[in-house]
Amino acid sequence: MAARLSAVRADIADAARSARRDPAELTTIAVTKFQPASLVRELAVLGQLDVGENRHQEAQAKAVELEGLGLRWHFVGQLQSNKARQLRRYASFVHSVDRISLVEALAARPDDGKELIGAPGREPLGVFVQLSLSDDLGRGGVPPAELEALAERVLAAPGLVLLGVMAVAPLGEEPARAFARLREASDGLRRLAPAANAISAGMSGDFREAIAAGATHLRIGTAITGSRPEAR
Ligand SMILES: *Cc1c(COP(=O)(O)O)cnc(C)c1O
Repeated sequence: MAARLSAVRADIADAARSARRDPAELTTIAVTKFQPASLVRELAVLGQLDVGENRHQEAQAKAVELEGLGLRWHFVGQLQSNKARQLRRYASFVHSVDRISLVEALAARPDDGKELIGAPGREPLGVFVQLSLSDDLGRGGVPPAELEALAERVLAAPGLVLLGVMAVAPLGEEPARAFARLREASDGLRRLAPAANAISAGMSGDFREAIAAGATHLRIGTAITGSRPEAR
């Protein structure tokens, strides 16, 4: 995995230079869904501390097991509102906020009386609003017309910091074209909230296009971890 991680880091640096961007402004999140905690521990040893998960129970179990390694947990999957308070016990970032009811649930404090796992919870939770880049809303995200109203709710919510936008490139379209629409949405959002300038985009197959389109947070799974065990 060390070799894959350094190859990905080199590819990211190359793509940044081709886009005349500073690689230092990019955050790489290793997406470790379905992978065992032992793999996440290996990543931590390699200095890869930003990790992403897409299922609450799996993420929470890993966060408990790996507490103390300084990992920063990014939640990137679809989230039920009734899991939001528990998520705040371990997650530092949520990339997949796509409805107002979820904003309200996340703004509530972590479960009273329960220990926080690691450092988050004392800090504001970093939030990305997820934009749908296709008419098929099955992969999550709000339609472009609803993005600003959702962002305004995040801005008004105590304990949440709006960082920017997130999207997954749709199947069947060139990622560069889809990411151009994400970039436009980001430009629109920044007129409303200048500090919310982050763009979470780019996976193993399309991070170069995402970097060219201005992505600041890359969510990369298999290119770093190798193939995933079968979904359960
Ligand atoms: C799984 C996942 C990724 C990483 O995908 P890879 O193709 O393995 O790089 C990124 N973002 C989200 C939302 C995911 O669910």
